[in-house]
Amino acid sequence: MSHCILRIALDTPLHAVFDYRWVCDAASRPQIGQLALVPFGPREVVGIIVDVVDDTDVPLEKLKDALAVRTQLAPLSRQWLALAAFAAEYYQRPLGEVALPGVPKNLRVPTTVALDRAIKKLAKNDDLHDATPVGMPALNAAQQQAADAIGSAQGYAPTLLYGVTGSGKTEVYLQACAQVLARAPDGQILILVPEINLTPQLEANIRARFPGVMLATLHSSLSEGERMLHWLAAHEGKARIVLGTRLAILASLPRLQLIVIDEEHDPSYKQQEGLRYSARDLAIWRAWQLKIPVVLGSATPSLETWHHAQSGRYRRLELRERAVAQATLPAVKIVNLEHDKPKEGLSMQLKAALRQRLERGEQSLLFLNRRGYAPVISCDSCGWVSDCKRCTAFMVLHKGEHKLRCHHCSLEMRIPRHCPTCGNIDLQPLGRGTQRVEEGLQAMFPEARILRIDADSTRRKGSAQEAFDTVHRGDVDILIGTQMVAKGHDFKKLTLVGILNPDTALFSQDYRASERLFAQLMQVAGRAGRTAQTDGGSASEVLVQTRYPEHPLYGAVVNHDYDRFAGALLTERQQAGLPPYLYQAILRAEAPELAKALEFLQAARDCVPHDGITINDPIPMSMTRVHNVDRAQLLVESPSRPALQAFLKEWMARLREMKSRIKWSLEVDPVDI
Ligand SMILES: [Zn+2]
Ligand SMILES: [Zn+2]
Repeated sequence: MSHCILRIALDTPLHAVFDYRWVCDAASRPQIGQLALVPFGPREVVGIIVDVVDDTDVPLEKLKDALAVRTQLAPLSRQWLALAAFAAEYYQRPLGEVALPGVPKNLRVPTTVALDRAIKKLAKNDDLHDATPVGMPALNAAQQQAADAIGSAQGYAPTLLYGVTGSGKTEVYLQACAQVLARAPDGQILILVPEINLTPQLEANIRARFPGVMLATLHSSLSEGERMLHWLAAHEGKARIVLGTRLAILASLPRLQLIVIDEEHDPSYKQQEGLRYSARDLAIWRAWQLKIPVVLGSATPSLETWHHAQSGRYRRLELRERAVAQATLPAVKIVNLEHDKPKEGLSMQLKAALRQRLERGEQSLLFLNRRGYAPVISCDSCGWVSDCKRCTAFMVLHKGEHKLRCHHCSLEMRIPRHCPTCGNIDLQPLGRGTQRVEEGLQAMFPEARILRIDADSTRRKGSAQEAFDTVHRGDVDILIGTQMVAKGHDFKKLTLVGILNPDTALFSQDYRASERLFAQLMQVAGRAGRTAQTDGGSASEVLVQTRYPEHPLYGAVVNHDYDRFAGALLTERQQAGLPPYLYQAILRAEAPELAKALEFLQAARDCVPHDGITINDPIPMSMTRVHNVDRAQLLVESPSRPALQAFLKEWMARLREMKSRIKWSLEVDPVDI
């Protein structure tokens, strides 16, 4: 027996690849991509073998022995390792920190009990090989054309499936999947969705359509046992379809043939902590690497994607009509709040429209992206407001629980009986959240069945699904909700959508706010009128309450005119020198005092030469303080992505050498500025 050296990527604070010794002969030499258990300080941890060599610079007596290699598990493929390596390099993070979290927790523990159990369980499940679809509905011409184009695409073929809400994009995906499964007898398909719990219909549809195919799901609300099983089914190639949220982009899929990204514009594809990756962008890279087609579906594509479709880098397929015959896009009307003064947040016009739906037994949806009762309470006599003492934010009134709560740091307090500053007992709620609108509606329409769906009303596991089921059963007259109700749902009896207070996003300093608001309004408006209008029923309509009726964004919503709106925004971005015409990264620093964070960023700004790169001045973040920590940021820009990447690499190396006690992080391609 001789020995070899295993280079192993570990998810450790030291961020590196470590060498270990392993006794083996030629026949039992471990393979790249296998998992190994190794000692690390006082602990035993699991890492991924990224290389197997005969020699190392580390003196032999300093090398520790690896403890075990997980031979019962097939190695992760070279392509998968290359994906992790690309993500690590692009987002400037250590390899182990990207690769290891892509593997289920149960595989990263010293014992193999869970792994062995999962392997046994999966071995029994070997009979799902019939990819014949059942119950395929007929498609309209545009859908059929799109499904065929996707299903027959070969090689790297990025495609935007641009279809209005209700145009039947899901059916296009499913029929394209059927073609791919039939053509590639052991091929796998990855379908990414923004939030799986809000779209259980898709999972049910896939299962019903492909009863003979194993489906694996990967998302954050699986138990560790389930996650292990589903990950393994994908890794072994048994699961032919994998449906998951952004984290599924790092799943091991050795025979991947097609990637579908549904609602590609959705901000949830971007991870906002730790490794701040974009699952959409990694999916594009993965498709390019494997030379397979990738589909990006949306009614309101992100400007990046639209830009690529315009320039011909992506192919564009369009669905301009709703899929159900006679179902038309709802009429969008602007309600000018200067003329129609709202009571309890509702204009006369919206109130009348709600009454009409109630009389006809149809459903209405009110959209307000602000939960709680009121965003702040204040004192009329001295001007006191309910600030959070730990954040640059207000404490939100939750009236039913008699509490004020900060939505950023979760600090809670009882509602004060009198003003803490002047003693005035008449404290007033300012503004309106979903709870307050619900209360107002109940007083206005005592006979109506009203249901609120937001993060507060759906805290319990499974309660969101119960709430949506209630709406689908028709047991709700008026639904009020936040963005949770905007996505994906197909409410059959819904003919009215009211949008209560969209104006604040118009004046945000984040240049992406209007893009996001437009997408959100189009999505929520798209909930109305998805089924054929029946005799005597109301035509479906969307009422947008605003104080800025002339704003071009609302004009585009009224005309369902994404093309023109996106075109105008792109022109603006090009003139202003903003993405997608420019590449950005943000360095953030946090400290108990703002000055320290700014000082660190200033030092970071000056520590390397930066020709061709613009480094802006450090500034406090717009929400400066969260949970007693002050935060500041530094924006770095370049018209060249390779130049920015080269600079970041050198810059990060220098910053790590500085060993500052300040906590800092880098975000590449930031979406919130
Ligand atoms: Zn006061
Ligand atoms: Zn707070």
